[in-house]
Amino acid sequence: MATIKRSLNNRTCEAPYLIFLGPPGSGKGTQAEKLHQNFRLVQLSTGNLFREHIKNETPLGLRVKDILAKGELVPDDLTVEMVMERLARPDTIMGVVFDGFPRTRDQAVALQNRLDEKGKCVTAAISFQISDEELVERLGARQMCPKDHSTYNLKSNPPREEGKCDLCGSPLIGRDDDKPEVVRNRLRVYRQQTEPLIEFYREQDMLIEIDASRAIEEIEAQLDEWMPMFIQGVNE
Ligand code: AMP
Repeated sequence: MATIKRSLNNRTCEAPYLIFLGPPGSGKGTQAEKLHQNFRLVQLSTGNLFREHIKNETPLGLRVKDILAKGELVPDDLTVEMVMERLARPDTIMGVVFDGFPRTRDQAVALQNRLDEKGKCVTAAISFQISDEELVERLGARQMCPKDHSTYNLKSNPPREEGKCDLCGSPLIGRDDDKPEVVRNRLRVYRQQTEPLIEFYREQDMLIEIDASRAIEEIEAQLDEWMPMFIQGVNE
């Protein structure tokens, strides 16, 4: 596969490695699923990976269960190791969309260093921008499939059949950490620890901003329009 000179900031990367930055409920997961369907990028959702560990009662799952229940952040070293394990799988060759990672400056620096060692790099960080009022409303209406992790929203993105996953038919559930008191804490944690990453990526000329209050289809269309800029030259 040819190496690529990106028009975005002249970094040379093998495949698109996109970071989705944004508060809980801003639509990162929904759009990451679309990029997976439309462009075969791996959706690397650290939240989904942690929930899978918890469901399977692995040592990591047992360790992080209470942290997720409170809406706090899992320690950086555990999170980075889990991400690197996932990145080592061969399907990442087509590119990756990081959904919910990095969430701290240390995670962001670790990601860049670890990708550097592999001759890879972050292509762009896309910041999903939306007001707190809209987030609280959206999270209250959110449902997910416990089996394949696809996400729905009773208002903006309802399943075809009420209460059932479109993809596998499993009964949909609300997320424990979407309860109002936990949501408030998750938003606080986001503002304190993750929002500063917007400046971190802006300073490196990697930031792209998107108005996340718009309809799902509009945001999807915008991302589709940007994709050639991210994958430009892959088949050259
Ligand atoms: P999410 O599904 O992305 O909202 O993540 C759910 C929960 O998983 C978060 O509230 C954190 O407890 C944990 N988590 C997910 N990603 C990270 C991360 N990058 N760093 C630390 N904790 C994380």
